[in-house]
Amino acid sequence: MGPCLKVAVIGAGAAGLIAARELQRENHRVTIFEKADQLGGTWVFDPQVEADQLGLDSNREIVHSSLYFSLRTNLPRQLMGFSDYPFGIRENGDRRNFPRHEEVLRFLNDFAREFGITELIRFGTEVVRVERVDLRNDEWVVESRTNESNREEVFEAVVVCNGHNTQPQAANLPGIEKWPGEQVHSHNYRHPKLYQNQVLVMIGNGPSAFDISREIATVAKEVHLSSRSPQHLQVSKLDNHHNIWQHSKIVNVCEDGTVAFEDGSYVHADTIFHCTGYKYNFPFLKTNGIVSVEDKRVGPLYKHVFPPKLAPSLSFIGIPERIEGCWNSSAGRAIYCPLWGWAALSLPPEGLLSGRGAGTTQLAEQHIVRFGGITFLLMELQSKWIAGVLSGKLLLPSKEEMLADVQQHYLQMEESQIPKHHTHLLNPFEFGYMHWLAAQVGLPPPDQRLTQIFSQIVMCFILGKESFRDELDIESLTRVAA
Ligand code: FAD
Repeated sequence: MGPCLKVAVIGAGAAGLIAARELQRENHRVTIFEKADQLGGTWVFDPQVEADQLGLDSNREIVHSSLYFSLRTNLPRQLMGFSDYPFGIRENGDRRNFPRHEEVLRFLNDFAREFGITELIRFGTEVVRVERVDLRNDEWVVESRTNESNREEVFEAVVVCNGHNTQPQAANLPGIEKWPGEQVHSHNYRHPKLYQNQVLVMIGNGPSAFDISREIATVAKEVHLSSRSPQHLQVSKLDNHHNIWQHSKIVNVCEDGTVAFEDGSYVHADTIFHCTGYKYNFPFLKTNGIVSVEDKRVGPLYKHVFPPKLAPSLSFIGIPERIEGCWNSSAGRAIYCPLWGWAALSLPPEGLLSGRGAGTTQLAEQHIVRFGGITFLLMELQSKWIAGVLSGKLLLPSKEEMLADVQQHYLQMEESQIPKHHTHLLNPFEFGYMHWLAAQVGLPPPDQRLTQIFSQIVMCFILGKESFRDELDIESLTRVAA
């Protein structure tokens, strides 16, 4: 048996819980620090919003979760379980394949109870500093704060699971300093009622923009979607909606309240809504610059997990979470990703999607889409890798080799003119990273049925199939793909 280490896990969201389980299975002694008074992280709905709705003021009181009241999962429960603990239907629970958010929280609580994780959590305990004891060894001081006191403890390893959907990333809009309207980031959206009869411009191309725009359009006067497009996009009205338009990106905003788009159209808006994603943020981490966050690049990180110079005693879970690509209807059924070029796509088999789903006309020629991955499973594989490496069962390459691997990745990005902020993007329709992780920990690659279902769901977003949660026949998809 390998060494049994004293390990600090920061955060008791899905990542921290699965990390703790895997570490415990390798006999490490685990303490989970959780600043909230309950586990679940993102999945703990909080009706409060932040005073600074764009999250620019670093002194603001931070609300962790970005959930809005009506949110249902964007992945079916079949893709949100852990490998040996499926997200099954609960007694008196939401039985749908894409349940409401409360159901995910119940699932995480059941998981933590089942595996004896809950008792490892110190609730109401915020980590405020993580720093090496001294520069020659790999021990870490973890300073934490409760309502009563601050405490310093030494750990042999730290696994960072503090979540990456809390610190808003707002769009940079020329002229915004004089624009008189309201601005809000989707992190601070809870309910449509605030936007009654308003004209809104909504920036973004991910599931949040997709879902929130449709919800707000039920009460707003007009909703104007704006997203980057690699080609000139004509403004168009969305099928099945009398008050939602798709525009290209914003060129500037003006003192008289106008928002002007690249397609030549403009609107007078009350609110600009930023569904533009989040920043990585590790305010407690003091590494003397060994790990930095710059333009959405957390680095250097070997395979998005280990900083070579500090491996294996410091690791990160859940960093690669976004994919981005653009649909091109004239190039056939294909998707383009900045990192991988064009990839062929298959649509859901005939008959699996029917009824009221919108068509593709609003997509015009090209349409960019962003989507998260099969997050829970990915975090489980990362956790198994970290736990195995810490117990000495799995070997990492040398620090030099890991660093060279990261440098090679950066170089490839530069040569292909891929911007830095895409460092942690994964290919939407290939699961190479998950396969690689599975191979490291001696598991077969994830079930192909899961990856195929995932691809179909991404397609639903691309094609604007709004009712996919109720119409996508997951059971048939599972059979078809088998
Ligand atoms: P979090 O859930 O954010 O947990 C981090 C935890 O760390 C929190 O409990 C926080 O309080 C704690 N913490 C942070 N800092 C400190 C500190 N300094 N000290 C102590 N504790 C700290 N994924 C899906 O798979 N399916 C979906 O349908 C889906 N929908 C989503 C919808 C929205 C609106 C958002 C924002 C995300 C969605 N996701 C979805 C992604 C989701 O974030 C992940 O599924 C997952 O919950 C992330 O888990 P995490 O543990 O990494 O982070």
